[in-house]
Amino acid sequence: MENTQNRWLGSDGYIQVKLDDGRIIGEHRIVWESAHGPIPPGFQIHHINHDRTDNRLDNLECVDPQTHKRLHVGHRQLEGIWLKTCTGCGWQGPEDQFPTKGYRNGKRMTRGNCRSCERDRQRAKKGWAGGESSLFGSHHGPHGA
Ligand SMILES: [Zn+2]
Ligand SMILES: [Zn+2]
Repeated sequence: MENTQNRWLGSDGYIQVKLDDGRIIGEHRIVWESAHGPIPPGFQIHHINHDRTDNRLDNLECVDPQTHKRLHVGHRQLEGIWLKTCTGCGWQGPEDQFPTKGYRNGKRMTRGNCRSCERDRQRAKKGWAGGESSLFGSHHGPHGA
């Protein structure tokens, strides 16, 4: 029996499919699983071109949740190394080149801006206080002398 109601666009932006047994599942998962077998537990299917309705197999990638999150914040992986984009200057570099923000669950979290932007930021913050030192040693000599 053909039922046009068994495939629709879900409120989360993914195409949902109702299976014969009544289960509702994202179409992207079905497409991926039909080619590669069951999605490993905890893994997610990412739409490479970020179009959640584009469920062509070529557009689907099975990733772990951490990788998935990175992909969605604009990081990209180049030859196995994650490149992160600086929110300040747009520079792209490996994550270990970014300053540490703190640690969460034993993992190092990095700042959104690169080291040189962070340095500028710190300098600007301290700059005004440090600027007082110019009162003391002007190299121009006394005025009018
Ligand atoms: Zn995704
Ligand atoms: Zn930067």
